[in-house]
Amino acid sequence: MVGSYDPFRLVPPHHYTSRNPAPFRVSVSMNVMLLMDFHAHLAHTEIIGLLGGHYFPDREIMEVIYVYPCKSSSTGFQCEMDPASEVAAREVFAEKGLEFVGWYHSHPTFDPQPSIRDIENQTQYQEMWRREDGVEPFIGVIVTPYDIEHDSNVSRFQFWMSGTNYDLSGQFRTPYSCQHSFLQNENLQEETFSQMASLVEEYHNYDQRVNMSETYRKDEEVSRLDKLIESLSSHINVSSNAAETFISQVRELMSADFRPNKNEETSKLDATKELILS
Ligand SMILES: [Zn+2]
Repeated sequence: MVGSYDPFRLVPPHHYTSRNPAPFRVSVSMNVMLLMDFHAHLAHTEIIGLLGGHYFPDREIMEVIYVYPCKSSSTGFQCEMDPASEVAAREVFAEKGLEFVGWYHSHPTFDPQPSIRDIENQTQYQEMWRREDGVEPFIGVIVTPYDIEHDSNVSRFQFWMSGTNYDLSGQFRTPYSCQHSFLQNENLQEETFSQMASLVEEYHNYDQRVNMSETYRKDEEVSRLDKLIESLSSHINVSSNAAETFISQVRELMSADFRPNKNEETSKLDATKELILS
């Protein structure tokens, strides 16, 4: 229905063609894929973060090499970026000599297609980073970790941006899928693992935390942890020794540290008891 406005409606992105080509190519680090995917698996609510990298105008290519996970103020269906994390990200990017090149968020169980609200956010970012030549080197990524209808345990990813043309309703710029490739000859960075450990620290007491020991696929006896590990492994493109070491470190991290702190759990129980008694 033209004219109706529902900010939560998902809009399937269009595809660029040879007649309407993408404004630039996108190349992504496996460390970025690992961290976005890892972050998305931790919570039943939407997570959000910023992407750092470089845009090379002469080669019309964007390289995405760094992830800054942000805190979100999630309201169940949609999440907004906490402004303080955005300010903190600015400092880290400046220190590392990186440009803002994108943002990511998760759709925990539903299609990785942008909502109208997502498109509005994306368009605002693109306009903010528009260059003098008119190019807007800023992309969005949506990760869907737990779509049980999806046959594979590997998460679904959507790389996308707002096109220059408007949707038929005239309400928002038409979203387009961005093709992306992966950087070559990369190493697994130690920083990626330490960022994962920080996320575990941040989320282990979160009430919407995903219980990793819970079953994900009943018929195949796949736990949520197995699902996470399989999805992470799919991004790794290094020698099998290095990959195995990394994966076993992650498995250990999740088994040992990604559970609610005992004391807090007890105090929560006590609080509930008090509530019931009062
Ligand atoms: Zn969204």
